[in-house]
Amino acid sequence: MTADATQPALILIVEDNEKNMKLARDVLQFNGFRTLEAVTAEQGLTLAAEHRPDLILMDIQLPGMDGITALKRLREDPATAEIKIIALTAFAMKDDRERFVNAGFDGYLSKPISIRELPSQVRQYLGPS
Ligand code: MN
Repeated sequence: MTADATQPALILIVEDNEKNMKLARDVLQFNGFRTLEAVTAEQGLTLAAEHRPDLILMDIQLPGMDGITALKRLREDPATAEIKIIALTAFAMKDDRERFVNAGFDGYLSKPISIRELPSQVRQYLGPS
């Protein structure tokens, strides 16, 4: 459900690693998505409230506030509570998916980001437009 159906979906990427940010942004833009970028959770919260993106890709390990705390803040704020939020993490333990879903994420993508799969993964999480 996009805020403005005439515009491509807006994706907020919260990621402190410059290479991962560039990769995610380039792949998403190449596939027609609009993007916003935040390198800290705090910046991500501000951008989310201002722009109400359709989906947030949220790194877990961030300087300052971590991604799980940021998720809770977003869920607490009525302005951002309904935004789909996908955990983006390098953790590779097999129980991670359950842990992140229990924390309230709508989904989970493990790094490294797949250039081939990211666009379809994001479309899948966005659901029918
Ligand atoms: Mn990180």
